[in-house]
Amino acid sequence: MVGLVGVAGVRIEAQRLPGGIRPEHYSLAITPDLKTATFTGSETIDVVLNAPSKTITLNAAELEFVSVKAMVSDFTSQFQTAVVTLDAAKEQATFTFAQPLAAGRVTLKIEYKGILNDKLRGFYRSKTKLRRYGVTQFEATDARRAFPSFDEPALKATFDVALVVDAGDTAISNTKIVSDRPGPGVGKHTVVFATTLRMSTYLVAWLVGDFKCSEGKADGIPIRACATPDKVGLTRFALDAAKQTLRDYDRYFGIKYPMAKLDLVAVPDFEAGAMENFGCITFRETELLVDKKNGALSAKKEVAETVAHEMAHQWFGDLVTPAWWDNLWLNEGFATWMETKEAAKEHPKWRFEQDAALEKERTMDADAGRTTRPIRAQAETPDEINEMFDDIAYGKAGAVIGMVENWVGEETFRKGVQAYLAEHAYANATAEDFWNAQARVSGQPVDQVMRSFVEQPGVPVVRFASAMGEEIPLTQGRFFLAALTTRPAASEAWTIPVCLKDGGCKLLRPEETVLAESPGARFFYANAGDKGYYRTNYASGQLAAIVANAEIGLTVEERIGLLGDRWALMRAGEGTVGEFLDLALAVKADPNAAVLESALGKVGTIIERIATDDDRKRLDGLVQREFGGVYAGLGGTKRHEADDRAELRETLFEARGQAGDPAVLAEAASQTKALFAGQTATADAVVDAAVALVAAKGDAAMYEKMMGLAQTATDPNLKEDALHTLTRFQSPELVKRTLEYAVSDAVRSQDSWTLLVRLLGRRETQDQAWAFVQQHWPEIERKSTVSSGARIVAAAGSFCTVERRDEVIGFFQAHPVESSERTLAKSIDNINDCVALRTAQEPKLRQWLDMHGVQ
Ligand SMILES: [Zn+2]
Repeated sequence: MVGLVGVAGVRIEAQRLPGGIRPEHYSLAITPDLKTATFTGSETIDVVLNAPSKTITLNAAELEFVSVKAMVSDFTSQFQTAVVTLDAAKEQATFTFAQPLAAGRVTLKIEYKGILNDKLRGFYRSKTKLRRYGVTQFEATDARRAFPSFDEPALKATFDVALVVDAGDTAISNTKIVSDRPGPGVGKHTVVFATTLRMSTYLVAWLVGDFKCSEGKADGIPIRACATPDKVGLTRFALDAAKQTLRDYDRYFGIKYPMAKLDLVAVPDFEAGAMENFGCITFRETELLVDKKNGALSAKKEVAETVAHEMAHQWFGDLVTPAWWDNLWLNEGFATWMETKEAAKEHPKWRFEQDAALEKERTMDADAGRTTRPIRAQAETPDEINEMFDDIAYGKAGAVIGMVENWVGEETFRKGVQAYLAEHAYANATAEDFWNAQARVSGQPVDQVMRSFVEQPGVPVVRFASAMGEEIPLTQGRFFLAALTTRPAASEAWTIPVCLKDGGCKLLRPEETVLAESPGARFFYANAGDKGYYRTNYASGQLAAIVANAEIGLTVEERIGLLGDRWALMRAGEGTVGEFLDLALAVKADPNAAVLESALGKVGTIIERIATDDDRKRLDGLVQREFGGVYAGLGGTKRHEADDRAELRETLFEARGQAGDPAVLAEAASQTKALFAGQTATADAVVDAAVALVAAKGDAAMYEKMMGLAQTATDPNLKEDALHTLTRFQSPELVKRTLEYAVSDAVRSQDSWTLLVRLLGRRETQDQAWAFVQQHWPEIERKSTVSSGARIVAAAGSFCTVERRDEVIGFFQAHPVESSERTLAKSIDNINDCVALRTAQEPKLRQWLDMHGVQ
């Protein structure tokens, strides 16, 4: 999946199935009734019993059993009827038979009923203004809401799916349609799909409605990109991306795409970003649909990456599946790493590597908290499993995989991937299987490196002292963003491939205390390419040489890494806010948008989180003054300028506008006016920033226009932009309207929380939003979906006072949110760290401003 953070489900003490039984094949006939939001199911499951048994236990949730029989002989049609007992807490059903069933093959025949829920999980309903749809989302543990099943990833089987749907509806599932006949009954037709390959239950999918598709082919595989009929015109970009990606992956993995077809379907209501169902990938509309000609670059990048991510799962996850959810990271880390690699290959000019470098900074900062978890952690209940879909499983695991590839070499790593996939195709595997294959193929201790990063929590820091002869003394340990006084004792030590600028990679084991200098290196820099997942702290002479060489001696990713390291060290009390501002000003003329985005984003955080109101004004003036040169050099807005130039312009425009630059604000006002007059293309990079700046001071008339766009736009990206812009308006009456709108029926559940989270995250609106959240909690819960509750808990961590912290604790203790235990702990941690940071650095900030004569 893509983009699921924390999940809330029914609080339960679920556990694994008892075992002793293996499903081989499911045959499902599902008849949905979209009007009444119900469905009936007729199912047979072929299972093999290890020993004679009077009971069979499988998973079922929110299903009503009509009848259950076990066929004990294929020849005489003899059967036994079962008594069904349900354990709602465990999401299990037990079938008890009067006589023991013999060991060996048994066929279960099950008739049942279910509901099409509105919680975006299991078999659920989605709708547009014109009609209703029925769609599925089963990862991690929700196949059991659509059909009784042995709903664990290691219990793979083959599946036959048939859907009985209304005459005007089509159906899509994992495989090709083999027959489509009228009936049973008037106004119905039955769509039968081919038998699947052996796969896990969480990868089964079906969709019912009137989807329309654009079609293509790659390496002999038919590929379709589908959407509701009004949006089929926006599927072309994704279809082309999928064709290219399939050809590239066939070669990369050395195994041809295993299914006979591939569909990518945009679903109007969707919880995550996308879901890698085998042969039938489902997407949130904004992750698949974009105007190929006029769409914004950021929207196209998002689609290219999401398509590459989900398609990587077709091999890594679908063909070879982790045996249990504790190794979910292997799926998600690999797909996260691969999405950048593939998207960058398809669009070399779009600089995906720089986005990945910025993302790694955010991940390492999150991972440097006290409450982080190891990549591989125990997860038994659905609550625990759902909370595993976090930045650690995606971002950290992806960065660690990238670090290993960089160390062993691209081609060697690819051979290791191929060996792993070939050994476990159509079956299950563990992390050990992966790193042992890599170690065997490369001849390097990949297992030791990966084990140290996967089993230990946190981020390593390597501290270097001045060179002694040809050796550089060093120490390593766990890095915490918290100040020295509040850090817990930590004993972690890592085996780290440290790659030197101009010097190759060296394996740093826990016991090692020196590193040999590389002869011929221009200066000492110990994270070449910014591929390593660790922080570095240098002796002052080494740092001075790095900063002096940064502009021509470091790559863009390395410059982002340098800013990230110094920022993190400052937050940990190993450096001052003034030293960081010196560094930010040293890169102010950097020609790269990502470097400036990184520097200005951190300066923005200083303004938001550390500065007093007075100092905020002084810093705003500093940003206007110091970052004016490059912006002035760009000249006026030009049509069709190169992407990198457009990004640089947007970054500087936004930062200077936020700092109150009157010239930028005037330009923003005229851009916004032109947009509403229909005279500007919405894909213009500066327009988004302009609208956001104007909206901050916007009045009710502008708000009405934006609301109109949010309600009527057909292009999902435009609609989402408009929705998000509503959260930029700062006048209390308009903030109130946005809050009320967010919990109203006019906003889809998938979008509701994003409005609340944005309002909670910004200093100007967060107090009002927090008061509203507390007062309107029942309405928020009513609209809550699988993961929205945890997202609101996470957003509550953006406060920076002791009073708010205590309120947050008190409120969520009184109103517990499922699957958010660790999220709440992290939020509290974040507030505490912010309070400590402000206390430590605010006087130092004032000193620096005074010293530099900033008025
Ligand atoms: Zn994924």
